[in-house]
Amino acid sequence: MDQVNNKSICPYAFKAAMVTIDSSVRPCCRYQDHKSERPVVDTNNTLKDIFYNSSYYNDLRDKMLRGEQIPGCKRCYKEEEAGQKSMRNQSKLIAPSTDVQLEYIETESGRHCNLKCRSCGPEISTGWNEDLKQSDYLANEHEYIDRMEELNLFHYNDALELLTKEECSKLQILKVTGGEPFLSKSFLKFIDNLYQWDFCKNITIVIYTNTTFVPKIKFIKALEKFKSVSLQLSIDSVGKRNDFLRSGSDWKTVEQVADFWFNFKSENPKSVNVAICTTVSIFNILTLDQLFKWLIEKEKEHSIFIDIYFVVLQSPKYMAIFNFSKKHKEQIKQVISQIPGKPRQTSKLIKMLDNAVPTTISARKDLKDTTDHIDVIRSEDWKQVFPEVFKLIYG
Ligand code: SF4
Repeated sequence: MDQVNNKSICPYAFKAAMVTIDSSVRPCCRYQDHKSERPVVDTNNTLKDIFYNSSYYNDLRDKMLRGEQIPGCKRCYKEEEAGQKSMRNQSKLIAPSTDVQLEYIETESGRHCNLKCRSCGPEISTGWNEDLKQSDYLANEHEYIDRMEELNLFHYNDALELLTKEECSKLQILKVTGGEPFLSKSFLKFIDNLYQWDFCKNITIVIYTNTTFVPKIKFIKALEKFKSVSLQLSIDSVGKRNDFLRSGSDWKTVEQVADFWFNFKSENPKSVNVAICTTVSIFNILTLDQLFKWLIEKEKEHSIFIDIYFVVLQSPKYMAIFNFSKKHKEQIKQVISQIPGKPRQTSKLIKMLDNAVPTTISARKDLKDTTDHIDVIRSEDWKQVFPEVFKLIYG
């Protein structure tokens, strides 16, 4: 595969399928097309049909082989034009080959989730359903006002249960996000199928979990059979700040569950990796030092290395740090530059604050209006939980 001279060719089109929450399929999570264009897995249309024989995939591959620009791949092209690495040219997960073989599946397990994180929304969490039913304002914000009946859909990604032994026979990597995967009956059935087919040993599994409960022992035993397991624990802060941002969680329980996974890594050091995945927003950026402190204590307690990944929040826009004023960004930079340890992550944040282009000019107003509104519905008070943020932006 000539990814250098052919600027359009990409291994994801030849090796991968992203099976989204509504069972529709596209080559990867970054590929941008309209939902209505995508093929959908159902009892009459298998993933095998779609991946190996559909005009959707075949046309895409033909265009790539001819070196034609693919509109859906715009994000990768933009990154490459800016001199950055893109998913197209940096994937270490997929072999750079044009042999058509389904080796990588990324999937959303369904909307079913026991949390309603402030950074999330009803598109991928049923936890938001009740808030939207109580508030036309929120229903409007999330564009559900004219389709409230859709809040009852896509609790589980049905496509996962329909995947066959043949379709998974060459599978090497499975990446799963939510909702909450360990609450998804379709995902758990899929894991059970992989276990029964004796395929776990061929597969690296990457799971994003909300760290609010330990799955049943049956699934822990299945995880031990995978070639390798990467658990991404979604934790955004410590104590009451995490409970607020990840509404529905209880910090004491989160710590216990995190300890369970850290022990799981200690017991399976060669095959298990556990990392913290933190969504960085205006709410938690000033107190990241506390999260790092907690992490270092856990590393010592369990004698393991625990990596941490920052996902810089883009949406909702009023929570995105790069949408605040230059003055605020300078103050934020000062705070995070003083965090001891883990400089790699903090210097990336500083670089982002210097370079990211704002996507709204009303973040200061919207932060207060929307957060106050959600607080009323949830009987919460963000000003009590994040006094440092209130002081920075409105003080
Ligand atoms: S070029 Fe980028 S967007 Fe297009 S299929 Fe590859 S990874 Fe996905």
